Amino acid sequence: RGGQAEREIPFAQPGSLTRVYAVASGKGGVGKSSVTVNLAAAMAADGLKVGVVDADIYGHSVPRMLGAEGRPTQVENMIMPPSANGVKVISIGMFTPGNAPVVWRGPMLHRALQQFLADVYWGDLDVLLLDLPPGTGDIAISVAQLVPNAEILVVTTPQQAAAEVAERAGSIAVQTHQKIVGVVENMAGMPCPHCDEIVEVFGTGGGDRVAEGLSRTTGTTVPVLGRIPIDVRLREGGDDGRPVTLSHPDSPAGAVLRSIAGKLG
Ligand code: ADP
Repeated sequence: RGGQAEREIPFAQPGSLTRVYAVASGKGGVGKSSVTVNLAAAMAADGLKVGVVDADIYGHSVPRMLGAEGRPTQVENMIMPPSANGVKVISIGMFTPGNAPVVWRGPMLHRALQQFLADVYWGDLDVLLLDLPPGTGDIAISVAQLVPNAEILVVTTPQQAAAEVAERAGSIAVQTHQKIVGVVENMAGMPCPHCDEIVEVFGTGGGDRVAEGLSRTTGTTVPVLGRIPIDVRLREGGDDGRPVTLSHPDSPAGAVLRSIAGKLG
């Protein structure tokens, strides 16, 4: 909106009743977007008004995972976000032709996030989830500047190497004075389809390690909010645009995700 003054970000105003969670991870592929989408769908099913900003510029997968096929429309200067499964969603992928890779630099990403927060018509949201790119990138700093009251949710796998980077990603919150609401351990074991045993595909302990490390650096107790097992139905739900918290709410993965949603909503 060249020339015009920047619109205020409603979620950053004093007295805003919207809880904002920035979902962060140290590296890609740990299930950060899956967690974001499933929490959003579960909260919406619980009757909350929920929005998701897909700020994972490099792997924008949120619309597909949510089944949000629609395109944003423009109504008088505001962007109307499509919604699916009860969740409003906006993604950088909706503004790039085809599947063109996004090669934007920091200032453009900051500007895009600013617009997603200020120029999208979200209405009165109870919860806004931001799916951040992996790592301690520019966007995490932008979120801290644009929505200082955003709380950080850290996703990690049980693997020690993944935990190390996740802890680093979380500790950025210390520098930006943001609250870390908790840690989600994803891919925490896989129930063997042939017997009752749990196969610890990615080892154990990553979630605790991140939570303990972040508790130490922040001087507050950072809890592990839940451990989500590996579940084919979770992956399928993502591929089909029907989150497992809705399609199989009582599956082990669905149940853990719904319990986490209950703690955050
Ligand atoms: P990230 O956002 O961290 O890059 P994604 O959410 O895109 O990770 O997940 C990466 C892949 O792993 C996706 O195909 C997703 O469906 C799958 N996945 C994530 N968590 C699980 C899980 N608990 N069980 C089975 N598949 C999972």
